[in-house]
Amino acid sequence: MNTKKSLTNMGRKLLAVFAHPDDESFICGGTLAKYAAEGVEITLVSATRGEMGRRMGNPPYLNRETLAAAREIELRQACGHLGVHELKFLDIRDKTVEFIDEELLIGRIEELMHELKPDAVITFHETLGGHPDHCAIGKAATAAFRRYGQGSLYFVSFGDMMLQPDKFGYTQDDIVRVDVQDHLKAKLAAFRAHRCQSELMEWVWQRDEKALRNLGRYEYFIRGSQSQPGKDSLFK
Ligand SMILES: [Zn+2]
Repeated sequence: MNTKKSLTNMGRKLLAVFAHPDDESFICGGTLAKYAAEGVEITLVSATRGEMGRRMGNPPYLNRETLAAAREIELRQACGHLGVHELKFLDIRDKTVEFIDEELLIGRIEELMHELKPDAVITFHETLGGHPDHCAIGKAATAAFRRYGQGSLYFVSFGDMMLQPDKFGYTQDDIVRVDVQDHLKAKLAAFRAHRCQSELMEWVWQRDEKALRNLGRYEYFIRGSQSQPGKDSLFK
């Protein structure tokens, strides 16, 4: 944690709406850790408990019956490393988000937004999400945000794909690049907390110094709303 930058965003609120335990850490764990360290109150919503995940630990020590509880525990530990204040589950079955009544889902997320009053919302892009659950929760969260009508909306992206936004129909002006260099240790700790998923990623378990080299300095977000806080920040 960079103490010099501490609490510069005190009082801000961020709502992250994702599909599975580990989405938050693997995709934008650096950004969550950075803003938590700056005093932002972060609420994470996970639509499912990831109980249909194919990875069961290495060597496998979980099964379909035990996976959900294990992943919930791991997610809580990851939230601790990242500094996420509150974790909420929508209790949707893994791999079925796209089949949930959309109005109901939008309504639940919108209700949460009214309750939490986030300054920034991050979720998946409804077509660039990469997994049907990601796209479905992103679509619902986007619709909920439009109805809520306050703050800023951002879509996560994977790795460095948004170095070339034109490939996806965007321009550099649509992209926010967050420098997470000072928070990579927290991101790595969160990867390790998701043990049953990350055990198969050899690099995660190398010595810290070596493992950290696998994590990029920047995380990229696509603007989902008109407000333009800046090129390198999710907040005004
Ligand atoms: Zn996922």
